Amino acid sequence: MKKSSMKFVVILTLVAVALLAAIVIVNNNQISDELEDVRLDVNIKGQPIIGEDNAPVTVVEFGDFKCPSCKAWGETIYPQLVEEYVLSGDVKFSYINVLFHGEESTLAALGAEAVYKLNPEVYWDFHEKVFANQPEAAMHDDVWVTTEKLLEIASEFPSINQEQLKENIDQELTVDEVNIDKNLYMKHKVTQTPTININGITIKNPFDYEEIKEIIDGELGANKNE
Ligand code: CA
Repeated sequence: MKKSSMKFVVILTLVAVALLAAIVIVNNNQISDELEDVRLDVNIKGQPIIGEDNAPVTVVEFGDFKCPSCKAWGETIYPQLVEEYVLSGDVKFSYINVLFHGEESTLAALGAEAVYKLNPEVYWDFHEKVFANQPEAAMHDDVWVTTEKLLEIASEFPSINQEQLKENIDQELTVDEVNIDKNLYMKHKVTQTPTININGITIKNPFDYEEIKEIIDGELGANKNE
């Protein structure tokens, strides 16, 4: 082979390699773009958080105090999550109010946001007590969220100033916080409660603890490799 044609072959090979490399890069970008499409982090700034601030995995529940499945999730899946991942510092957990059950959902959200604003240290206990007061599933459509009920629940916490809380609820002083939550669940296209989001990924079945574990472990592994 002549020297010039040899040079031509080398150039052709280099061009081919460069083209292949470009194709691989484009494909990789497509794959990460697809992942980014399904991953949408929830902005939990200003929201109640349980767990370490610097926990590598964030789990967000979009829930509704009037929703029987949310009560069930809180009593079955949530304790396992806390026991296994929150206490170890791997997960921080937050809760966003969804208002799918009308005025009572809104009232409960206004009350819970008021407790969080006035006495953040008792927020999670209050949250749990509100769910505990939800009647059994067959009767969940009955009216049970009232200002009196919320104040009665709050009366179990000596640090809560009842008058201040009543004023907050009556005057809807936490309507901005409730609207922030509403905008969040609309942004994340939440159509059912509870919806559970893990580091931006919405899981298919919130009651499948194995799926929750798998995603959290995957996120923790990815974090360690970084
Ligand atoms: Ca909130």
